Formats: sequence, C-alpha cells, structure tokens
Amino acid sequence: MKTPAPEHRDSEGAGPTSDAQAPLDFIREIIAADVRGGKHGGRVATRFPPEPNGYLHIGHAKSICLNFGVAEQFGGTCNLRFDDTNPTKEDVEYVDSIIDDVHWLGFDWGDRLYHASDYFDTIYEYTVQLIKDGKAYVDDLTAEEIREYRGTLTEPGRESPWRNRSVEENLDLFERMKAGEFADGEKVLRAKIDMDSPNLNLRDPVLYRIRHASHHRTGDEWCIYPMYDNTHAISDALEGITHSLCTLEFEDHRPLYDWVVENCPVPSRPRQIEFARLNLTYTVMSKRKLLELVQRGDVSGWDDPRMPTIVGLRRRGYTPESIRNFAARVGVAKRENLVDVALLEDSAREDLNRRAPRALAVLRPLRLVLENYPEGQVEDVDLVNNPEDASAGSRKVPFSRVLYIEQDDFREEPPPKFYRLAPGREVRLRGTYFVKCVGLVKDERGKVTEVRCTYDPQTRSGSAPDGRKVKATIHWVSAAHALGAEVRLYDRLFTVPNPGDDSSGRDYKDFVNPNSLEVLGGCRVEPGLAAAKPGDRFQFERLGYFAVDPDSSPAGLVFNRTVTLRDSWARIEEAQRKGLKA
Ligand code: ATP
Ligand code: MG
Repeated sequence: MKTPAPEHRDSEGAGPTSDAQAPLDFIREIIAADVRGGKHGGRVATRFPPEPNGYLHIGHAKSICLNFGVAEQFGGTCNLRFDDTNPTKEDVEYVDSIIDDVHWLGFDWGDRLYHASDYFDTIYEYTVQLIKDGKAYVDDLTAEEIREYRGTLTEPGRESPWRNRSVEENLDLFERMKAGEFADGEKVLRAKIDMDSPNLNLRDPVLYRIRHASHHRTGDEWCIYPMYDNTHAISDALEGITHSLCTLEFEDHRPLYDWVVENCPVPSRPRQIEFARLNLTYTVMSKRKLLELVQRGDVSGWDDPRMPTIVGLRRRGYTPESIRNFAARVGVAKRENLVDVALLEDSAREDLNRRAPRALAVLRPLRLVLENYPEGQVEDVDLVNNPEDASAGSRKVPFSRVLYIEQDDFREEPPPKFYRLAPGREVRLRGTYFVKCVGLVKDERGKVTEVRCTYDPQTRSGSAPDGRKVKATIHWVSAAHALGAEVRLYDRLFTVPNPGDDSSGRDYKDFVNPNSLEVLGGCRVEPGLAAAKPGDRFQFERLGYFAVDPDSSPAGLVFNRTVTLRDSWARIEEAQRKGLKA
C-alpha cells in the first residue's frame, strides 16, 4: 500500500511551497511534486466522476472546481465520466443536468466525455482474467450471509464454502451469470483477497452482482453489473488518470482500489487521493436526502432556490463565479468540517456587488403623498446603475407626487436608533429631495395606510442650502409608474445548523424549516425592469440581490431574493430582541 506523502497538510496551514503566489493545498503539493519528479512523464490527468442518480450540489461543485482547476493549473486534462454502474437508480435526466451544470460552472472536458458503462466489456474481460488467475470466485451466499461471514472490526471474517471452486467452475458460472441464467442475488462474483484483513473492504469484496434491469445506455445487454470499487479503479486506469481525487469516505477503499489496479492488466497506474467533503450548515448534502425532499414536496423540485443544488443556486441568482470563488475560499483539506453557509452567501454578495445593476423596488409598499408636489408633474431622476462599475452608466427613474416606500422605513413611534421616517422627521428620498412627514392616514383598525409629507424643492442635489442634515436616505418608487411584481424570499431550509447529523438520533426531515419560503404579492418595482428576463440579476437598493425567476413574464414579474445585504438595522433589532445592547 502506498503511504501518504509527508507533505499532507490542510490548506489552512501556511507552509513553505514551491509556488511563489498562492500556497498550494496538500493535493496540489503532491501533484506538483509528481510533476517535478517526472512521474507519468510529468502529465496530469484528473476526472470528475458523478453517478447520474441525482442533480449536482454545491459539494460536487467543490470537487468539480478541484478536478478541473488542478488540470488547468498543471496544463493537464480533466475528463467528465459518468459512473453509471447502477441501472436501477440512474437516469438520462440526471446525465443531461450534470452536463449542463458543469458547463454552467465554466468548465469544459473537450471531447473527453466518458461513461463507466463504455468499459463494461473491458471490465468483464479483466474479471475473467482475475478468475483465471485464481483471484476471483463465484459465491452462492446470499447478501445477508455475505455480510454475516464478513465479520466485524473486532471479529475476523469466515471463508465462504464456495471460495475454493475451481477456475473452470468459476469461469462457467460467471459466464452463465452473464447469460442471464440466475436471478438477482442468486450469485455474486467476489475477489479472493483476505478474509482476515483488518480492512473489511479487503475481505473478498463483491466485484459483480446480478441485476435484471435495463440500463439507460446499455439497455438489456447486461444483467450483471460491476461494483463501484473495481469499476472506478479500472475506469481511471483506462483513461490514464494520474491523480484520482475523491472524498474521505473512500480512504478505506484505497487498498482495494490499488488491489484492482495491481491485479488487472490495466494500461496505467492512477493514484487515489482523498480530501474532505464539503458540508454546509443548515443544509443536507446527499443526493438521496435531496431526492427525498423533492419527492415529499418540501421543495418544488431539484431547482427550488432553497436547494443546495447547482440548478437551485442558479435559479436563486448565484453566478458561476461566486460558486467558484466559494470553492476557492473553502479550499481543500484532509479533515472533515462544517462550513458556515454564510460564507457561501458572502461569495454571492461579493460577486453580485460588482456586477448587479441597481434598481429601486419596494417589497411591502406604503403610500407616501407629497402634499406640495404639483399634481401631474413627473421628473426623471438620474440614478447610477452600479457605483462599483462606472461603465454601467446611469438611468432615468420617474418621480412624482404619489410614491411607495417600504413599510419598514416608517415608524409612527420610532424606537431609539431608528433614524428613518417618522412623524415630524425629515429623510432623503434616494437620488432626490428631502421630505418631511407632516401627517398620517389610518384605516379603521388604526393601521397607517398613507404617510403625508412635504418636500423641499431646494434639496434635490442631496444637500439643503441651510446646511441641515438628514440621518437617513430611503428608497421609493413612483406609484403611477411602478410595475407590480411577486418577490420570493428564502430562508434556510433547515432550522438547525447540522440537520444531517444522524448521531442525534433524529431524522433530518424533522428539522425542515416550515417558514423557509415567503411569497410577497403586491411588490412594486421601477418601470425599467419591464424588460428583465429570467436569470437577470439586480441589487434592489437597500434590500439585497434578486434574480428574475423562470416563472417570470412581462405580464407578471417574479423575483427570487438571492441574498440580503448586510443590514445594520436588522442586526440592531435582533440584538435588542435578544436583550443585548446593540
Ligand atoms: P452524494 O453523497 O451527494 O450522493 P456521491 O458521492 O454519491 O454524493 P457522486 O456522484 O459519486 O456522488 O460524486 C461525484 C464526485 O463528487 C465524487 O468524486 C465525490 O467524491 C464528489 N463529491 C460528492 N459529494 C461531495 C461533497 N459534499 N464535497 C466534495 N466532493 C463531493
Ligand atoms: Mg458516489
């Protein structure tokens, strides 16, 4: 067995590296050393090997960025390979979505799109050779008996009574397994390794099982299917993969991976290196669990914007760049950990701040009437599209006597540190005048339905001739010009930081957040958004980043909130609620 290289270390630990710019993570250090040492002739080849049994999630994105990123960095190649050995769970819908997602993330495999099922013939031939070499046998034990015979970590395994069949008998039975003579589970083919091995994976692992099921690519050609471990090792070797990067749960499988590579007549010798999976707070990250959420209707589908899937994040408004930056920030480590989902949200903010044009939108409208503003007058207010990007220019937004402001921006009885609009108080309307609250209209239940203000025509530039100041600037839309919109606000899908932690004895489904989606109907947005198309992203000033949903149409705009801005008032209020001093 290969021993881990001494330079293994977490990416967080700064250490001496050969690269003058960024410190290399432990995987890149191994690869850099291999390249320097001329291993594989200095060639670097990686692969991303998803099983098409679900949509890709942000954890896969980490693996994609690592595999394609390494290849790019070392002038190598990265293949996309579907690990399609389980006909009952796999589907072309998933294949198509995976192809789409990897492309969307910004990576390309050129003409190197492969399927493990392409290798079924070769894997079969290699397996026949294993049998001829006395290294594999057909076993009649049931799945349950095999488990029982396998033993445990403290108990050695027992040999199957069928372990010492002759080569001839094994060849004959294996061929008949392939010919469809036996039912599912009646026989399996096992590697003959070591029933006393301290590593359970080496206690004669199953290499082939019978599955009378149609495969999405090979149809009914096969009724025996190779298992993950031998398929993966052989596929890597056939493709000339030099560094086979996978997640930590496969560490104990590495001796088996190496056994397969050493005992099959493969054309090359890949090396498996494991890294820690990405785990995120308030999220589950397993295709099985995500599928269950879809099937139970906890979410509207794989692309529900609350899902940690690539399609979900995309619909939510994440950019490929933000996801790639996130992957770079979490880095690659050897130790399992739980990354705060806030880091992902922050990557979105950072990227969208640079690229998203600004717009005015009011989510919970409150009417504001400027009593001294001429009826029928409309002014075009010039607003900068993106203060971070001068090339984005500016736009005209209509302003008039009746406006909408955010309900949150007005308090009849303002608490301490609330500096926005209140009776008698003056604030600035974004890009325009100072306005002062001079009256209120309430409904029968005492709820404020309208705020009456006066404006100061001399303050359009943002300052008053007499030098008086306002403490807040709030956003607005013109009532007569604004467009109606639906806005979907998302909260975390789970109520606890680690819903997938099974050690609590509770099921992750117990922690689904019933309030993770809030749909606001009567929102108002500036008229320039009429042309917004699904996928377009905006910063609604003071509110956050929003993306146009595929459900949107010119007749009914629909926006998803990608992420909020950092909101200092919300933080103060939260602290007050918790009884802390802000
Ligand atoms: P899941 O647990 O979500 O079902 P999986 O490991 O079964 O995932 P695969 O399709 O086999 O899914 O994964 C393809 C590649 O992505 C593998 O190399 C796997 O190690 C990697 N991968 C899967 N989940 C993560 C994760 N959370 N973080 C990093 N890499 C991951
Ligand atoms: Mg897997």
